[in-house]
Amino acid sequence: MGFNPFIKKPDLMKARRVLCVQAHPDDMDISLGGTMLALKDRDIPVHYLTLTDDAAGFSKAGGKYRERADIRKQEQKEAGEILGVASFHWVDFPDAGEWSHHEARDAVIRVIRELRPDFLITLDPFLAYEAHMDHIRTGRAAAEAAMLYNFPHVAEPLPEGYESFELEGVAFTWTNNPNTVIRTTAYNNRKFEAVSRHASQFPGEKDLVLLKKYLTYRAWREALWRPFLLGESLKILPPVMLHCFPEALNF
Ligand SMILES: [Zn+2]
Repeated sequence: MGFNPFIKKPDLMKARRVLCVQAHPDDMDISLGGTMLALKDRDIPVHYLTLTDDAAGFSKAGGKYRERADIRKQEQKEAGEILGVASFHWVDFPDAGEWSHHEARDAVIRVIRELRPDFLITLDPFLAYEAHMDHIRTGRAAAEAAMLYNFPHVAEPLPEGYESFELEGVAFTWTNNPNTVIRTTAYNNRKFEAVSRHASQFPGEKDLVLLKKYLTYRAWREALWRPFLLGESLKILPPVMLHCFPEALNF
């Protein structure tokens, strides 16, 4: 973790309103379900923006395209109820299909302008060996949106009466380069209650048990040498570091 005497690391647990931008309905629940519950305990509202319809993520073949997308929304809402998600927004790009960076970025900008969060969480598009283009595109679109949302000639038109405001922090999950670990010991079981609601994604109960074991092991590893047992890690940057800022890598 780097130290910068000029720039302070934003504190997610002091956010007023959080917007999570994910590729698929379960990305945040699986990677940060404990963090979502920690935010809920602090009465910090969390909103979800999901970019794809997730119709390709089913473990079993069959079902009409639209029906699969609807099932995913229903599962997501049930999981989100456990985690205290305040609102759901969907763009419905085709899962594992073709969609453009600029369309995605502008969709994120429009939701940022509407909800006026002070913290944004998304997927780290620079995760080494990450092969899923939905994840890479989502992270890049959200990061660029966090840099450009106040510019009036990007994603025109601005909403009527729009007043510019500051995003304090952008947090990346599934990262090689964390600078923050959130204490999630008390939330681990409830997190997996939520994850289990995404039932269409798991071929059977056994897979879910294995996922819980593995992610709990990862949470234990994240918390090593810290005064708690389980944690979830993030790379958190102030938005100013998202452009022409070599220090961001080690911040
Ligand atoms: Zn995903």
